[in-house]
This record gives sequence, structure tokens and C-alpha cells, in this order.
Amino acid sequence: MEKLITRDKLIYSMSSENKPALEVESGTTVIFETCDCFQDQISSCEQSIEKLNWDRINPATGPLYVKEAEPGDVLKVEIQKIEINDYGVMAAIPGSGIFGENIDSSRIKILPIKDGNAVFNNDIHIPCRPMIGVIGVAPEGEAIPNGEPGAHGGNMDNNKIVEGSVLYLPVFHPGALLAMGDLHAVMGDGEVMVTGVEIGGKVTVKVEVIKGCKLNNPALECEDMVYTIASNEDLYKAVKESAEDMLHIVMKKLNMDINEAGMLLSAVGNTEICQIVDPKMTARFSMPKNIILRS
Ligand code: CA
Ligand code: ZN
Repeated sequence: MEKLITRDKLIYSMSSENKPALEVESGTTVIFETCDCFQDQISSCEQSIEKLNWDRINPATGPLYVKEAEPGDVLKVEIQKIEINDYGVMAAIPGSGIFGENIDSSRIKILPIKDGNAVFNNDIHIPCRPMIGVIGVAPEGEAIPNGEPGAHGGNMDNNKIVEGSVLYLPVFHPGALLAMGDLHAVMGDGEVMVTGVEIGGKVTVKVEVIKGCKLNNPALECEDMVYTIASNEDLYKAVKESAEDMLHIVMKKLNMDINEAGMLLSAVGNTEICQIVDPKMTARFSMPKNIILRS
């Protein structure tokens, strides 16, 4: 039978103190019902962004306790399905995002989802590519608000975390305590205006514990690419850390020294940006799967 965590089981920070919403064994398929990043407070463009309850921003559904997970393991999260609601929300907020200082009034936009497109206006219909903005486990130290990304995952806003991709998260606490939310119907790299097409929905994942394999940061496997993901207040440091994580994976998997592996990364690896609008920015480094997993 399918396991379900309903959208009223919400947390606002990832922490080892959070009480599990559900406990399952490794290998179980679980459905997470999620609210949008405004906790579904917006349903009309007449609403004022300033009047929202800002204590209810970035809710994540969970956490899920996975029985076999112990610190030092890796939690494999296979994203089997992402279903989204029938409308999404975007916002312009003075002071927010890379144009923030030039925005003097706020605005809310409601985007109906029709035939797999987000309707931006009469002329512009954007094909949906549903993704998970916030997904992570309890972090190693203090609680981390869901708005922040880190080694535990969190608000990575990585538009490659889509249906069919597999996310690998380091485990820091027994049970791992997986939680997720902040779906986007579609979002560009960088999320320059601070919102994607924010939307509620339902995510079906299969969770599995991998023993004897340690990660510093989240990693992702998609159809033809693998990614390492790192976040830092300094974008260069985020880029460097994600590339270093990939370097070590390549050295180990392909049995190469640093010179050889570094040249391979330089030849076919790509530095990409997930988001640059949170205090900690998130970078990912990609490599073609057929090169890394050829053994
Ligand atoms: Ca986000
Ligand atoms: Zn979002």
C-alpha cells in the first residue's frame, strides 16, 4: 500500500528535533502532498503580498523517518511523479531578486495551468516542467530554515530535480528526516525574480538507504547527466565546491589522478547555476552520465 504524508504535516526548518510525520522502511514509496511556498495563502492577484503571514513561508511536508538510515549513509530519493495543482503564483517584491532595487511596487500574478502550460498572458504559454524547490534532510548542526540551501539540501531551487530524476542526500541523523515542498510548475536557472511559478501539488518518491557511501553535498542523477550541488554565500565558492565534489567522484569511479580527472571535467563538465537569489547561492556541476558510469 502507498504511504501518504498529507499537506497539513508542515515544518518550517529542517532539524533533528522535528517529530517524524511517518516512519517507513528503506525501499518504500511515499507520497508527499505539498503546499506552495506561500502556504497556499494566495488565490487572487488582488491580494497584497505585504499582508501575507510571513511566518508561513516555505513550508515543507514531513519529515519522513527512514528506518535504516544512519549518519554517514546516503538517502536515495527516486522522484517517480510530480503532480501540480491547476494554478501557480508569481510575485514581484520590492528589494527582492536581482532587480529588487528598481522595483517600487509589489505585484502578484496568477498563472492558470492549462494543457500542461503555465499561462503567463494571452500570448505566452510556458510549457510546464514541474520541479521541487525545497527538498532535504535534517542538517548536521543547528536547525536550518527551509528558505536556506546547504549540505542537507533545502531550498536548492534546482530545476533538474524533476520527475524521473534521482536525488542523493547525505544522512546526518538516524532516520534522515526527509521533507519537501516549494514545487514550481516551471523555473529558469537563477530564479532571478525570487519566485518560480510557485505551486502546490503531490510528489511520489521511493526512498532507499545506501550504506558505505558518503557524500559531502547533494548529488543528482537525471536521464543522461549527473550533477553535484553546492551552496555558499559566495557564488564562486559554491561553483568550486560543486566542481570539487564531481572531481572526487570522477577520480574514484574512473580511477584517475587529479590531473587526468580535472582535464576530463574541463573537457565535458559544465558549471551551472540553480539560484542566485537566496543569501546562500546554489551551483551545480554536470557531467554526462555515459562518461562517469561507464564501468
Ligand atoms: Ca525556493
Ligand atoms: Zn519556490
